[in-house]
Amino acid sequence: MPALATRLNDIKLAATAVMTNRAREIAASGQKVISLAIGEPNFDSPRHAIEAGYQAALRGETKYPPQDGTRALKEAVQRKFKRDNNLDYALNEIMISNGGKQVIMNALFGTCDPGDEVLIPAPYWTSYAEMAKLATATPVTIACPQNNGFKLRPEDLDAAITPKTKWLFLNFPNNPTGAACSRAEMKALAEVLLKHPHVWVLTDDMYEHLVYDGFEFCTIADVEPRLKDRVLTVNGVSKTYAMTGWRIGFCGGPKNLIAAMVNMQSQISAGTSSVGQAAAIAALDGPQDGVKERAEIYRQRRNMVVDMLNQAPGIQCHKPEGAFYVFPNVAGCLGKTSKGGRRIETDLDFALAVLEEAYVATVHGSAYGMSPYVRISYATDTESLREACTRIQEFCKGLS
Ligand code: PLP
Repeated sequence: MPALATRLNDIKLAATAVMTNRAREIAASGQKVISLAIGEPNFDSPRHAIEAGYQAALRGETKYPPQDGTRALKEAVQRKFKRDNNLDYALNEIMISNGGKQVIMNALFGTCDPGDEVLIPAPYWTSYAEMAKLATATPVTIACPQNNGFKLRPEDLDAAITPKTKWLFLNFPNNPTGAACSRAEMKALAEVLLKHPHVWVLTDDMYEHLVYDGFEFCTIADVEPRLKDRVLTVNGVSKTYAMTGWRIGFCGGPKNLIAAMVNMQSQISAGTSSVGQAAAIAALDGPQDGVKERAEIYRQRRNMVVDMLNQAPGIQCHKPEGAFYVFPNVAGCLGKTSKGGRRIETDLDFALAVLEEAYVATVHGSAYGMSPYVRISYATDTESLREACTRIQEFCKGLS
C-alpha cells in the first residue's frame, strides 16, 4: 500500500471515539450500553435556529460564503462578545470557522514553527496536544492536580514559560474536569502573562454558559485588557446551544492574527457552511432563556452524579463549578479484580472493565493527561445517568 504521512505517526485517534466505538460494538451484540463518553448535549438545537437555517437555504444562501464568515454572523458575534464578555472587537478582529476546533487549528497553523511550545494545563481536552503536534509545535503540559481544584496556579505557569513558549491555552470551565476560574484566579494568571510579552494566549470559552450555583464566568481579555492584543477568545454554538452538528465556532483576536488564520482557512475549507451561519445568528441573537434553563438541568444532574459516584466504593468525586463533566478519582479501585475477573491496574483498565461488565462507557483520565481518573459526561438524560451511576456503584461493590 502507498505510504501515509509520517506526521501522523504520533497522532492519536480521539480517546472518546475509541471508547464510543467499543460501546457501539457491545451495543450491537444486544447489550444496553449507556454512553457517558461523549461531550455532546442531549438536547435539540433551538427551533428558531433550525428555522433560520432552513429559511436561509430557501432564500438561496447556499453559495460559497466569505472565507472569514458572513458579515451578519460576524456582527452577531460582535454583539455576543460585548453582551456576555464586555469585549469590543472590530469586524476584522472576528472570524467564523467550522467549530471551535477549526478556530484552534487555524490559530496554531497560523503561528507555530517547529520547536515552538504550546503550554496546556492538564488535564486537558485531548485535541489540544494532537493539534499542536500537527502544527509542528511541541505540547508542554502543566499539571493542575485535584488538590489545586484542577486549576492552573500562577507559580506553575510562571515556571513553565520558556523563550520557546508560543501559546498558553486556557479552558475554564474545563473539559474534562469542569473546573472554572474566578476573576481573582484569572487576574493572578494575567499578572504572570504580563511579564512574558512573547506569549500568545488562547482562551477556549466553549463552556462559558455552563457554570453553576452563582459562579461567575470570566475571560482573560476582559479581566486584563492589557493582554487583549495577544489573546484569542474562542467560543462557539456547539455546547451552549446544543448545535454540535452545525459546526459553527468563532473567535475574537488581534487583526494580524485573524488575518493569518483567515489565510489558513481559505486554503483548508474555504469558509464555513452558509446555512449553519444563518442558524448561529438566530441562536446568538434570539432568546437566551433556554440556555439558563438547560444550565439548571445540568446543575441538578451534576449534583446527582457527584453524590452517586461518591457512594461507589473506591471512587472519590470532586464537585466542579461548570461544564458537563465530572472527573472522579478511581485510585481506590486500583489493585483490585472485578467480578468478571478483570485486574484493574490503571484508569484505562477501570474504564474498559466498566464498559465490558457494567455496560457504561466513560473515558480514562490518562487520555486527558492525568491518572487515575475517568471522565464522565452528564450531557445525557437524567434517567440514563441515574441508571449508569447505579451500575458503576454495583461494579465497584463487586471489586475485591
Ligand atoms: N473545546 C473544547 C474544550 C471542547 O470540549 C470541544 C468539544 O468537545 C471543542 C473545543 C470543540 O467544539 P466545536 O464543536 O465548536 O468544534
